[in-house]
Amino acid sequence: MIRSSMIFKKKLAFLLGGLLLLFLSTAWTFNRKEKIAQLNKEERPNIIFILTDDQGYGDVGFNGCKDIPTPNIDRIAKNGVIFTSGYVSYSVCAPSRAGLITGRYQDRFGYSRNPLYRPFDENIGLPLSEQTLSEFLKLSGYHNMAIGKWHLGVHEKFHPMNRGFHEFFGFLGGGHRYFPEEYDIKNPDSAKNEGQSYRTKLVRNNKLVEENEYLTDALSREAVSFIGKKKDKPFFLYLAYNAPHSPLQATQKYLDRFPNIQNNKRKTYAAMVSAVDDGVGLLLDKLEELKIADNTIIIFLSDNGGPIEDNGSNNGPLRGGKSSFWEGGIRVPFAISWPGKIKPGTRYDNPVISLDIFATLASNISGAAQPKNMLDGKDILPYVQGKRSGSPHDYLFWRHYDQKNYALLDHSGVKQVILKDSVIHLFDLKTDLAEKKNIASDDRKTTEQLKAEIKKWEANTLPPLFYGLNQEEQYNKEQKEKSKPKN
Ligand code: CA
Repeated sequence: MIRSSMIFKKKLAFLLGGLLLLFLSTAWTFNRKEKIAQLNKEERPNIIFILTDDQGYGDVGFNGCKDIPTPNIDRIAKNGVIFTSGYVSYSVCAPSRAGLITGRYQDRFGYSRNPLYRPFDENIGLPLSEQTLSEFLKLSGYHNMAIGKWHLGVHEKFHPMNRGFHEFFGFLGGGHRYFPEEYDIKNPDSAKNEGQSYRTKLVRNNKLVEENEYLTDALSREAVSFIGKKKDKPFFLYLAYNAPHSPLQATQKYLDRFPNIQNNKRKTYAAMVSAVDDGVGLLLDKLEELKIADNTIIIFLSDNGGPIEDNGSNNGPLRGGKSSFWEGGIRVPFAISWPGKIKPGTRYDNPVISLDIFATLASNISGAAQPKNMLDGKDILPYVQGKRSGSPHDYLFWRHYDQKNYALLDHSGVKQVILKDSVIHLFDLKTDLAEKKNIASDDRKTTEQLKAEIKKWEANTLPPLFYGLNQEEQYNKEQKEKSKPKN
């Protein structure tokens, strides 16, 4: 009898404890929502993230470009900070985007290849265990829109509107044609591969769009329209232009601006960059017209370095280009304007990386939620403001899983590049930005130490989750095997 009453008391205590916890957590959630609602009434910064595709380090005015004027992109740089050593976490499109939208090295969750375009394969996309910047900002009370190129999964479960965006306008694959008369594959779900996906109609949210404008102009139009719409919340606009990624296509209006460029590839490339610059201008003008420019953060960068041969881009003084881990592949045009926080005309020379964007926003927006996962990026604002000295990162890392290439950059500008897991290069970027003089054999101690750092970092990474764009044959073979009836 005594025993059973003790058990009853224990149960009761357990139940009451549970109820108390439930009450506290409900009250906390309620409080948080209240707080966010109040903050919304105050001024909270809007955020515009402008991403270009395959634009070279040397192809913006603020990095010294002479033949392609980019007065509007330069306005962002003049109003804020130019990162002279701004990096992305991979040297081609999709893994770089997976890194910048999660604030984490994409190798941590196996997004290490450009994905195949497979609308019905639910394994090819950004894992749902990862929190996107848009999901984070949605929790923090933002209204979000993605415009342009997605490239983080085509299956419905990876659709931008299932990844924290309230609205979407654009296309889901890795690129697109620019002239609407070439959009001759009606439904994005019926495209069978990446090449076909370039010819699908655009979508607004989940509906097909009848588009008439040159693609870059259409994306700019949508961006301007989005910020012009009345909202009761601060907004986050992710504007991912696919220009100046190939195919090289531009309208006469933009081509006519470059009578002096003789090389046809460069001329079309210049026209495409100029179209983006016009779009950025329209956007900045709209912010001023709405009197919200002073309360809007603008981030500008390219998703990887310029593929010089492919699109006629120029990486300035840097070696190599897209796909490589030489500076030309991973160091990109990068600028942020943040009125009231970053002094106009700032230059920042220590290495920063696209992964820092998430962490910096998370640390500096009042009332922001707690990021779900551990971020690899750092809050770089105090460094840019001069409140902290030194470099935000001890080391930055890069890995090509299939090729077994690695790169590491340390805080002092010493860079190691390992090709095929064996050929080792060591450069001092402070004195050798062009990576001409391999000092690996002169400094074996540093070489070994940095190799060990890479191994340490790699211990916390995953192998790729899916086959890449150039493994289509293997993928198809495996699918065929899977679909064979079992006897
Ligand atoms: Ca790209």
